Amino acid sequence: MHREAIYQRLPQWLQAVAINLEGARVRRRRYGGDFRERLAAAIARQAWPPERIAAYRDTQLRAFVQHAVASTPHWRDQFAALRLTADDVRGHADLAQLPILDKETVRREPKRFVAENAASMRCATAHTSGTTGAGLVFPVSRRAEHEQWATWWRYRLAHGIGVQEPCLYFGGRSLVPLSQTSPPYWRLNSSSHQLMFSAYHLTDDTAGEYLDAMDASGYRWIHGYPSQIALLAAHAERLGRRPRAPRWITLGAESLMPAQREIITRVFGTAPLQHYGMAEGVANVSQCERGSLHVDEDFSCVEFIPAPDGRCRVVGTNFTNWAFPLLRYDVGDLARVSDSACACGRRGRRVEELDGRIEDYLVTARGVRVGRIDHVFKDMEAIVEAQVIQEVPGVLQVQVVARSTWTDEEERRLRSEFATRLGSDAVLELRLVPAIPRTSSGKLRLVVQRIPDAQLVRG
Ligand SMILES: [Zn+2]
Repeated sequence: MHREAIYQRLPQWLQAVAINLEGARVRRRRYGGDFRERLAAAIARQAWPPERIAAYRDTQLRAFVQHAVASTPHWRDQFAALRLTADDVRGHADLAQLPILDKETVRREPKRFVAENAASMRCATAHTSGTTGAGLVFPVSRRAEHEQWATWWRYRLAHGIGVQEPCLYFGGRSLVPLSQTSPPYWRLNSSSHQLMFSAYHLTDDTAGEYLDAMDASGYRWIHGYPSQIALLAAHAERLGRRPRAPRWITLGAESLMPAQREIITRVFGTAPLQHYGMAEGVANVSQCERGSLHVDEDFSCVEFIPAPDGRCRVVGTNFTNWAFPLLRYDVGDLARVSDSACACGRRGRRVEELDGRIEDYLVTARGVRVGRIDHVFKDMEAIVEAQVIQEVPGVLQVQVVARSTWTDEEERRLRSEFATRLGSDAVLELRLVPAIPRTSSGKLRLVVQRIPDAQLVRG
């Protein structure tokens, strides 16, 4: 039986024991060994001038490429086919000799990317969820895990969040069995100082109990998925509750949409902080005290490859996960990049906007792709959540969780917003629904795109 299925059948007190045992195990893994040294080193690197960071990154990259070519079937064959040797990659700029690696290639044959000596690296297993349901499972070395958490804690510490700070967590874990219909819809993970709230029990009926439990905890820090925290904010507003303002709200896992930022800030009275990273660890971006999004240039080699609409695809080379080397890996996200300086003094590239996933586009009847669908829902205050499902070009199934302020006028506005972007011949099938289902990892997907790629005109 699957571990989660066993957990769901345990009595509540045993679930608490299981959560704390698992929490302690995760904590030892993430923060044991030489984590503290890596964190101190990551903090020290922040003061380095750009040339020193570039030199550090190139040294790391050279060793990584040597290892990738020597130890993984995919890179051995790829370099041979290109008539290159590992010595041809001396630095960041030399990566352009290699093709961009798309997710599908890795998903098809992940074993060909696993280093032959991965077993000696005390690996954990990472899972990513895919758009078609086909996720990726791969090994992450202890060192890679420590470097990633060091980069994340460097960002948190810069905002004043201490390693021992208790946290209210709103993520995608199924902590509470779905059959449970009375509180608590949360579990205390005392070894990680987290009060973890179930993503699957938050409804009109239970929201008040969530807010009561939050109040009782005396929190200062909320962390989780934007969709979860925005949904909680929408419930609080509906109930006329004013939650206490936390000192920090940190977001991760999903890209933050303008409407979500707006409602979270309005209801909690605290502007959320953003960071961008992924299990594959090929890129990382952290928000600074001045609100800018800085590329963590010492963490990986990030390339921004221009897309036709002025935005850039995020392509990255991780140099710390020697168990599963990914070179020029296309994350499938889009960003708008800036070189201008930030008042905080950090150097390197900045990201003006993280636009989220490339898959989040719709297709017009003529086969043209249209992105940035989140903007359709901007300023639509009568909408709590929405999802657009597309199976046929030009036809959209729009599901909306509406507030009581929803009227025919709101519907006309929504239809006209879609018509502006997709053409007046777009067919919109609108349905009001009580809730929108999450993915298996608890994420809310704005667009569920089911048109096969082959049917599209590249836009
Ligand atoms: Zn800054």
